[in-house]
Amino acid sequence: MGAFDWFWKAMGSQSERNDKKSKAIVDEARSAAQRYTKSDDATVAQAARDAVRGGEVADKAQFLGALAVACERSLGLHPFAVQSQAVLRLLSGDVIQMATGEGKTLVGAMAATGFALTGKRVHVVTVNDYLASRDAEWMRPFVEFFGLQVASVTEGMSADERRCAYAQNIIYAPVNELGFDLLRDNQITERAQTVQAPGDVALVDEADSVLVDEALVPLVLAGNRPGEAPTGQITNVVSRLRDKHEYVVSDDGRTVQLTDVGAARVEQELGIDSLYSEDNIGTVLVKVNLALHAKALLIRDIHYIVVEGKLQLIDASRGRVADLQRWPDGLQAAVEAKEGLEVSEGGRILDTITLQELMRRYPLVCGMTGTAVEATDQLRQFYDLHVSVIDRNKPLQRFDEQDRIFATIGEKSAAIVEEIARLHDTGQPVLVGTQDVAESENLAEALRNRDIDVNVLNAKNDREEAQIVAEAGDIGRVTVSTQMAGRGTDIKLGGADEADHDEVAERGGLAVIGTSRHRTARLDNQLRGRAGRQGDPGYALFFVSLEDDVVKQGGAGEKVSAQPGPGGIIESKRVQDFVAHCQRVTEGQLLEIHSQTWKYNQLLADQRIIIDKRRAALLDTDQGWQELAKRAPERARGLADLPTPTLIQAAREIMLYHLDMGWADHLELLDDVRESIHLRAIARETPIDEYHRIAVREFKDLAQRAVDKAVETFRQVPIDTAGAHLADSGLNRPSATWTYMVSDNPLAGQGNSVLSGIGNIFR
Ligand code: ADP
Repeated sequence: MGAFDWFWKAMGSQSERNDKKSKAIVDEARSAAQRYTKSDDATVAQAARDAVRGGEVADKAQFLGALAVACERSLGLHPFAVQSQAVLRLLSGDVIQMATGEGKTLVGAMAATGFALTGKRVHVVTVNDYLASRDAEWMRPFVEFFGLQVASVTEGMSADERRCAYAQNIIYAPVNELGFDLLRDNQITERAQTVQAPGDVALVDEADSVLVDEALVPLVLAGNRPGEAPTGQITNVVSRLRDKHEYVVSDDGRTVQLTDVGAARVEQELGIDSLYSEDNIGTVLVKVNLALHAKALLIRDIHYIVVEGKLQLIDASRGRVADLQRWPDGLQAAVEAKEGLEVSEGGRILDTITLQELMRRYPLVCGMTGTAVEATDQLRQFYDLHVSVIDRNKPLQRFDEQDRIFATIGEKSAAIVEEIARLHDTGQPVLVGTQDVAESENLAEALRNRDIDVNVLNAKNDREEAQIVAEAGDIGRVTVSTQMAGRGTDIKLGGADEADHDEVAERGGLAVIGTSRHRTARLDNQLRGRAGRQGDPGYALFFVSLEDDVVKQGGAGEKVSAQPGPGGIIESKRVQDFVAHCQRVTEGQLLEIHSQTWKYNQLLADQRIIIDKRRAALLDTDQGWQELAKRAPERARGLADLPTPTLIQAAREIMLYHLDMGWADHLELLDDVRESIHLRAIARETPIDEYHRIAVREFKDLAQRAVDKAVETFRQVPIDTAGAHLADSGLNRPSATWTYMVSDNPLAGQGNSVLSGIGNIFR
């Protein structure tokens, strides 16, 4: 906390008042719980139900008291006072900050139960499959105590299994599955095919990760239709361009641009007049740009790895292989081409939604995380969410040492190895957080050369990963992990069973080493927070070099120097401040990107809501048939012999086909616009206004065009007792669809951040 104490004082009395009030309620709840200890289960459950009136938890003390008794009986856990306070904050729709190991899983289940008892359907949003099924099973006895139902949704489940799960009161599901089911449901042509019953409440675990770090990640639904393959010639020409001469990379490392010399060379080698001509700007130039990005900005073993002839992306915020991610269409192909790999086949994007847009569709969002305070601005700005900090159950016993700063990466790396070896000698377990896969592997190798046994965490599946992390607190264990590996798993001292807890505690508990500061202080604190759970001792130390990316990007070329002290460590206060300043600058850059992209995405989100309404009307009423019959009365008369339900369904399928294809075309077009607008920004137009103008214009025509096309199809397509034969007219929907996430977009640059929804086939 330390550094943020002032902040909470400055935040004023509002949260304090809440705090006092909720403490009083929790005290009262304790006596309520005592009253129920002799009651039977049914009475306790009824007391919780009785505490709900008018769609909300009215008698909070009675409610918490009954829940505490239920926890005890069903799970063998008695909620700590701080947990009950957290439940109250969640029920009022806040994001709560609770440190690792404070028992958020139970808190989430208690709040979810509260919402469910008020008749709301709750989606508990997790970051992966493993946590969704683990938490649902763990909390099942508690939820069922109240006669409520709980289920989890995970990747391998069929549509029927999902439908069944979504019908329950409380559903644990990873955020991407929630999004994929929503996208797939927007392709159905009969209401009975709907899989997802909408959630009234999203209770988001690891809220800062889902709502902020990965908010811009688009989830994509694609269908089988071959896409356009990029040319080898462009890759070839671009591969020979020289840095700083024919192209320049921006200081923040996010964008790259051809110089005039570079452009001239590309034009000459491709035998074209001008890259910037009308003909080329939306086609050749886009491809050249992609190839250049692939060459200059995407570095093997940092942004991706190559395994068995295939690209595997490294998740920017978790620092490990992201199985379900791809880069946008052309970029993925461009990197494949650069690496000489087989370029994967393209598909057609049917629909796409960002995590942010997905989460904003819930009428109520609340969440929990170990690091919410530093995301306060974003949570308020983008979701109108308030952050509540919950006290620790036991005071923090972790010692956070001041950063050790070195002039060069070389000196820093050597010092890191020394420090880990020193800690390891004492038997203290060490968890090392690195920035990327390459760094974690280099470090592991250096440690192995010193005969230190290392567990490296980067490309494992969730379950194995969780197990390795769970063991990371055992005596003498050294675990090297990339940024967010194993998030959501509690590291217990002395191994997962805590057999050697006291021995490890005597040695100082878990030691956490950060090999550099992250782009945001929040990520630093996530890592620190792995140590010192539930009053355990712990230790955290970050290493920094003045050559680190954060310092280079945040410092924007500004140089500081100071006389290093013993061991090459720079002690100067001025340099310490400079490093903190650099991190604030990179945080600001991320926020700026987020708000820019937000502006781009918001319009599309509004348009989707209009499309959704239209889709629902077509699915649930005979509006499609009415409209078609009115526009093409002669055709309608010709079909008069057919049963009405057949006609209604035929009209529905025709209308939906054109509406859905129109929407897919719209998304594709806007992606192109965004890309070319990025290029046009060079010519000093206001890109966002231009984008809005085009998006509004195109959308206005979309509805009309879809209906016109539907009328045309209605006139021509064979319709009989089996319905409309759309496939015979080449109007079939994709026979196979697949889903994936587009990685945090490396094309993100000034005013043009993540390009949503361009991507292609994943598997
Ligand atoms: P977090 O997600 O906040 O890091 P978890 O939900 O994983 O924490 O819980 C951490 C550990 O604390 C678990 O082993 C859990 O069983 C334990 N725990 C949670 N609440 C209580 C409680 N009220 N009493 C005792 N143990 C608890």
